[in-house]
Amino acid sequence: MIKYLPLKEITASYEPEISDALRRIVERGWFLLGEECAAFEQEYASYIGCNHCIACGNGYDALWLIFRAYRAMGILKDGDEVLVPANTFIASVLAITNNNLTPVFVDPDSNSYLVGEEGLRSATTSRCKAYLMVHLYGQCAYNSAVADFCNERGIIIVEDNAQAHGCMYDGKRTGSLGNAAAHSFYPGKNLGALGDAGAVTTNDKKLADTIAKLHNYGSNQKYHHEEVGVNSRMDEFQAAILRIKLRRLDAENNRRRAIASQYISGIDNPLVRLPQVRDFDAHVFHIFPLMSECRDKVVEALAKHDIQTQIHYPIPVHKQECYPEWHSLSMPMAEKLSMQEVSLPLHPLLTDAEVAEIIGIVNSIG
Ligand SMILES: *Cc1c(COP(=O)(O)O)cnc(C)c1O
Repeated sequence: MIKYLPLKEITASYEPEISDALRRIVERGWFLLGEECAAFEQEYASYIGCNHCIACGNGYDALWLIFRAYRAMGILKDGDEVLVPANTFIASVLAITNNNLTPVFVDPDSNSYLVGEEGLRSATTSRCKAYLMVHLYGQCAYNSAVADFCNERGIIIVEDNAQAHGCMYDGKRTGSLGNAAAHSFYPGKNLGALGDAGAVTTNDKKLADTIAKLHNYGSNQKYHHEEVGVNSRMDEFQAAILRIKLRRLDAENNRRRAIASQYISGIDNPLVRLPQVRDFDAHVFHIFPLMSECRDKVVEALAKHDIQTQIHYPIPVHKQECYPEWHSLSMPMAEKLSMQEVSLPLHPLLTDAEVAEIIGIVNSIG
């Protein structure tokens, strides 16, 4: 049996450090906005290379808080348009629409599955005030052409770094490249908590101060509320776990890259298309996406050997039941991905022998 993501084994690989940390917090008796959270914020800000980090409840909240803060600051207003990849996870889009902002879907590039400068240029209208740049599958979506395009038009770049912790572009980490970034520490991410957790990173002090209030009931002084805030805080247990796991993130991302290169050099079957990687350093392989016109065959062949796969994502956001207003949109590449994409297992504990077994099965599909 090869699980897509063996969370039990991955968690066990951090023992006894995790159990020790949890016990320490129980004994300390301080559970929210305490020393673990403050230390994590500092360590994560320095890892990403940003002046500010605000820990919060989950990745969606981190995205929502960024747009909510820009509204509180008067930089975004109701109805402003936000560019967003058509093939992202729905959380990216919900953070836009739940802020009374309007998503403008951009179909991704057919080689990288990322939004490029060309796609951005053709989708942008005069009402576009921000671009939610998603480093999808763990690959950096930032480049100088995209940055120049946004700078020329005064478009704010918000990064969705949920899938790309540790990814590097030109000596800088994703999450430090745009105006602000949202990070998810959902258990299955490259840096995963044992429950929900998220964070915002930015070099914009005003934005950081606004979010620091918004995520704690609009307050930075108990019982004084300056903003109409929400409750979205990271608890001390999750912060302590993330501090432990952060120390091994780079090593684990290196292992992910080694597995990905084993897949890329080993898989050779005209029925499947490998991901096109431009720069291995700018990829942390949260997901290893294959494309195939006979995806069901690939899924079944692997399932027959007890090997789990996933699909990212089976229904594009603009075709979801909750968004009937976008159903008539045509996003050919996002729709093709939804029909042909299949993700192979890829996690730091996967062994060379398991990778070889998966490659053998994929190559035998005829
Ligand atoms: C996981 C994910 C999120 C949401 O994170 P949560 O912590 O589950 O709220 C947002 N965007 C992308 C691209 C994701 O993969």
